[in-house]
Amino acid sequence: GIPNMKLDKEYVQRRIDLMTEEGVKFVLNTEIGTDIPARKLVDDFDAVVLAIGALKPRDLPIEGRELNGVCQAIEFLHANTKSLLDSNLEDGNYITAKDKNVIVLGQGDTGTDCLATSIRHGCKSLNQFDIIPEPPVDRTPANPWPQMPRILKVDYGHEERDAKFGGDPRTYQLSTFKFVGDDNGNVKELHTREVEWVPTDGKPFREVEGSEKVWPADLVLLSMGWLGPEDTILEQLDLERDERSNAKAELEKYTTKHEKVFVAGDVRRGMSLVVWAFGEGRGAAREVDRYLMGSTLLP
Ligand SMILES: Cc1cc2nc3c(=O)[nH]c(=O)nc-3n(C[C@H](O)[C@H](O)[C@H](O)COP(=O)(O)OP(=O)(O)OC[C@H]3O[C@@H](n4cnc5c(N)ncnc54)[C@H](O)[C@@H]3O)c2cc1C
Repeated sequence: GIPNMKLDKEYVQRRIDLMTEEGVKFVLNTEIGTDIPARKLVDDFDAVVLAIGALKPRDLPIEGRELNGVCQAIEFLHANTKSLLDSNLEDGNYITAKDKNVIVLGQGDTGTDCLATSIRHGCKSLNQFDIIPEPPVDRTPANPWPQMPRILKVDYGHEERDAKFGGDPRTYQLSTFKFVGDDNGNVKELHTREVEWVPTDGKPFREVEGSEKVWPADLVLLSMGWLGPEDTILEQLDLERDERSNAKAELEKYTTKHEKVFVAGDVRRGMSLVVWAFGEGRGAAREVDRYLMGSTLLP
């Protein structure tokens, strides 16, 4: 899903080539759990490391969600990168933002990548909405170091949007409650209400009466966070989950209740960062070595 302008796949390929030379065998176009039962891996190999990520996206089940042009950000980004790598976007196998009014719902790295990809397609307008309040410019006392800073981040997608259309794309404290389509089932409008973060009726915020607004929208990209890993493999192996539905493993050991099965990266910690995936991959390799050899010299 990470677009090429942010992570050139040349570097990924370079690493794959190095690992291939070292003897790693990559089996592609094979979905474990569907094409091959997960249990077979456990039966056939001495150790199994699950590093399947956490790509189950949060949805927005409101009126009009089924309309064409309302899609998950990851579908948009994945198809774009695949088409770019396969054919420099000439095969047309992607969702285009060209000449469209694009609205990205939600933020984070994925939302930023949607902004930047839409600009490269040549979108007509570009906005990004979030229900949360605008983050502060500096850390608050409630968010001290070494916690991850919860501050306003201006990323490359925001800078590019500013350069292309003028201004930051983000509007905060907006709740999207309806999509409206045309006669052909294509989305044409997105309806919002402003929210105030005042606890009301058991909810942490309330909608502001009379604040309804209609936005033209031909492409709506849902980038509202992740709900954890796909269930299939974890269910087939009957692995335990933590309270956020990620695969549960012993801290620093990456071990699960199955002696042979280790979990590392986003599947264990939820959607995170590349540096954590590197770190956990190395840690899992160390623990597999210890399991197979009885001791390990790996860091
Ligand atoms: C759009 C987007 C933008 C991001 N931007 C950033 C960023 O700017 N900086 C940053 O640090 N992080 C970013 N991240 C997060 C980062 O990509 C992840 O934290 C990291 O890739 C996690 O690595 P992983 O190895 O745990 O899982 P992944 O990289 O998700 O790899 C999982 C692999 O398992 C494969 N797989 C899954 N299920 C199966 C199955 N059933 N059978 C066979 N194979 C399977 C997948 O095809 C994939 O190759 C971004 C993520 C996304 C989606």
